[in-house]
Amino acid sequence: TMHNQIMELKKSIRVFCRVRPLLQTEHKQARITFPETWGYIGRCVCLAHSESEYSFTCDRVFDHTASQETIFNEISELVQSALDGHKVCIFAYGQTGSGKTYTMIGEREGDDMGIIPRTLAKIFETIEIRQSYGSNHTVMISMFEVYNDKVQDLLSPLAHNDDLQYVVVKTATEALGYLEKSLKKRSVARTKLNDRSSRSHFIFKLSICSTDKMLEGVVNIIDLAGSERPDSDASRDLQEEAKAINLSLLDLGIVLSKMENGENNISFRGSTLSQILERSLGKDFKTLMLLNVASEEKFASETLATFDFASRIK
Ligand code: ADP
Ligand code: MG
Repeated sequence: TMHNQIMELKKSIRVFCRVRPLLQTEHKQARITFPETWGYIGRCVCLAHSESEYSFTCDRVFDHTASQETIFNEISELVQSALDGHKVCIFAYGQTGSGKTYTMIGEREGDDMGIIPRTLAKIFETIEIRQSYGSNHTVMISMFEVYNDKVQDLLSPLAHNDDLQYVVVKTATEALGYLEKSLKKRSVARTKLNDRSSRSHFIFKLSICSTDKMLEGVVNIIDLAGSERPDSDASRDLQEEAKAINLSLLDLGIVLSKMENGENNISFRGSTLSQILERSLGKDFKTLMLLNVASEEKFASETLATFDFASRIK
């Protein structure tokens, strides 16, 4: 109804869904896949699982054919609003192997460049244009991860306090150099799904100060740890990791849903991840939740869990 549409437009958190294509290695074994047991019409994803049908509505669906460029075109305006003092938060949520890191980071150059490299390129391109009109900007980046509910500063591995380190960067290439170094430090553990899967939340923060207008804009790009439940036969360490991940994602969902409902006095103390994001999730923040999903039938229950997470925030 009209009323519902208006309600929806007022919402401040936008949710996009990206379906990753079948992987080369899975092509042969994969059972029925997108679009046979799956489909979407406009913004509504439909999925059949265990003899039931489910549907989920988000703001945009990108199917398996969507390129990195297509995704970025949709959010380029959002990240560029940081140049005018806006505060932007972009999350990737989904099970391990669903394409979060590919979407957020991808390659450093070429068609597979993900959101971070493209954001850096776009931001510096715009800064250069503005400079010719006499406008000055300073760009700072910081990168850290939350692993087992502890913060690790990836630019300065010795710092374990809350004063996260940042560096001033003058070019996209320089920033990508720091990204490269930081990623090498990110905790990874072997799982059945993906041996380089990440069990930590990765947070990339870019601050832009406009020296003439005294504005500070921020873009936070967050590659969340895999949301899947561990197998019951997983090692104790993996179970512990998964517990920390689940608790932090659960708390993030609660915080986001309270924000979305316009509640005041939200507590960010529930997890280290929420605590870190406290200053990034204020009222004037623009938040985008990217739901990464794999289309293989065997992942259907994880896909439903991903949609369930999002439907609790919207
Ligand atoms: P996650 O970070 O969610 O665990 P990854 O981003 O590592 O998942 O993706 C798993 C694998 O799938 C990687 O090899 C990645 O390159 C590939 N992949 C993911 N999404 C796409 C896509 N849209 N197009 C092509 N390959 C993809
Ligand atoms: Mg990953």
